[in-house]
Amino acid sequence: MSWYQEVLKWLSIFRMKKRINLILFGPPGSGKGTQAKILEEKFSLLQISTGDLFRYELGNNTPLGQKARAYMDQGQLVPDEVTVDMLRNKLEKHPDVRGYIFDGFPRTIAQAEALDGLLHERNESVNQLIALKVEDEEIIKRLLERGKSSGRADDANVEVIQERIKVYNAETSPVFEFYRQKDLALEVEGIGSIEEINNRLSEIIQAIL
Ligand code: AMP
Repeated sequence: MSWYQEVLKWLSIFRMKKRINLILFGPPGSGKGTQAKILEEKFSLLQISTGDLFRYELGNNTPLGQKARAYMDQGQLVPDEVTVDMLRNKLEKHPDVRGYIFDGFPRTIAQAEALDGLLHERNESVNQLIALKVEDEEIIKRLLERGKSSGRADDANVEVIQERIKVYNAETSPVFEFYRQKDLALEVEGIGSIEEINNRLSEIIQAIL
C-alpha cells in the first residue's frame, strides 16, 4: 500500500469514527418525521425516512412505487428485501455525511439485522435507538388529523390506521428489544410540544456526540 493510500485509509477511519447512526423509533404518528427533520438540521445529520422514499417512488409511479403501493394502502409493511435494497441504494448515494437518522426503519428484526450488516461493512454500527412513546388513542387522533391535510390515503382511513398500529405492535416493536439487549435503546415521552420533545431527544444525542 502506497503512503497516500495509507493516509486515505486513516482519514476515512477517522471520519467513520466521528459518524453517528441514530434510529428514531416509535409507532406511526409518534412524531418521528417532525423530530427527525429538526434533528437533521441541528446536528448536521441526514434523515432517511423509508416512508418518504416509498412515497417519492409512488408519486413518480416507478416500478418500486408500483410494488410498494398495495402494501402501503393497506397499512402493511413492504417486504424486507425491497425495503432493504432501497435503503442500501440511499446509503450508497450519501456516503459522506456526518451521520444518519433512520426514521421508520428498521421496522422488522430482519431489517435491523440487515442494517447492522450494512453498517458493519463500513466499520460502523447503530449508536443509539430512541423511541418516542405515545399511546394508541393519541396516535389515532393525530393520524386522522394529519390525514385531513397530508394527502396520505393511509392517514385518512381509521381501519388502515388500526392495521398500521397492529403491524407496529406485532412486527416492529420487537426491534426495540433487539437493540435494548445491546444496551442501545432508550425511550422518551412523545407527548408535549415539538420543542419539549426535541429537547429530550437532543439531550440524549448530545451525550453520545
Ligand atoms: P411511514 O411514512 O413511515 O408511516 O410509512 C408509510 C408506509 O410505508 C408504511 O405503512 C409501510 O407500508 C411503508 N414503509 C415505510 N417504511 C417501511 C419499512 N421500513 N419497512 C416496510 N415498509 C415500510
